[in-house]
Amino acid sequence: MELLCDWCGSKANKGENTVYWELPDGSRAIQITETPAVICSTCTMVYQTDEVTKQIEDQLLLVDTQKIGKSIIYQKLMELPRLLKRNYFDFS
Ligand SMILES: [Zn+2]
Repeated sequence: MELLCDWCGSKANKGENTVYWELPDGSRAIQITETPAVICSTCTMVYQTDEVTKQIEDQLLLVDTQKIGKSIIYQKLMELPRLLKRNYFDFS
């Protein structure tokens, strides 16, 4: 399936980048490295898909964020044990 840039509609590539994310409680921001990203060489936009954004936000609500240091690899974040079995905060 061809990946198209959300911003300019050109063909884009899958890649990774480092993002900074504020914790749900607003106490601090963490760095998430090797985060799946869409990279567009035409307009130079690098962004996370809605799916990845939702995965990060859900995960940060469900894990013990005290266990996360200043920086974490995306895959490690996703592997952290969840405190709740499901996301009770998702009302969508
Ligand atoms: Zn683009």
